[in-house]
Amino acid sequence: MRYTRYIRSMAALTDDWSTRHSVLANARRTAALINALSGTDDREPQPKSAAEVEAATVAVAEVLREYGESEPVELAPDDVVRMRVAALLLREVFAAEDVDAAAAALNRLLAEQTGPLRLTSHGGSAPWHPHLDSHDDAPWDEWFLTSSCLALTVLLWDHQRPPGGLCASPACRNVYITSGPGPARRYCSRRCATRERVAAHRRGQRATDTKSHSGSGSGSGSGNS
Ligand SMILES: [Zn+2]
Repeated sequence: MRYTRYIRSMAALTDDWSTRHSVLANARRTAALINALSGTDDREPQPKSAAEVEAATVAVAEVLREYGESEPVELAPDDVVRMRVAALLLREVFAAEDVDAAAAALNRLLAEQTGPLRLTSHGGSAPWHPHLDSHDDAPWDEWFLTSSCLALTVLLWDHQRPPGGLCASPACRNVYITSGPGPARRYCSRRCATRERVAAHRRGQRATDTKSHSGSGSGSGSGNS
């Protein structure tokens, strides 16, 4: 099912194929799909309601379009329910504390969830590139899990560090991809970084206020020694 749409999108995108389908672009699509599939606080693979599945289906289709999937993006609610299971498995890679743990998480997925490495050109319509799914028209969830494993594996190999992480904001469940040199990233977005900075500033101010109040009282106690 995915196969024919893929060919159509590839025909239009041959020129910038390598940009759109770079390992980094694939990894960012993985993070965006996990975030669209994860919902707000549900750690269960099965969504709570039909409305939630409906919303996730719209969000996931939007991400796929954003990353070059051409119309119509045919995604059934059942596909999304299965993709959510894949997203929960992939989160383990993002939750890893260091590069060794990320490699171990990826090795588990590569052993248990993906097929052997193969090359495909989608019938000559795309440059030869590697896949870990069983065939070119594999279901969405299989494609999502295997293409994500491949991209995250190559990123870890290339940079010798975890390919991504979980947003450090307690209010956010998003994952992010680590890209480029510089200080380690902690938040999924500027929005989360700003919100946490403001919250930390307020906590700091409250702590200072409390200290200055209690400071006057503790002065008498210090005379005991
Ligand atoms: Zn966040």
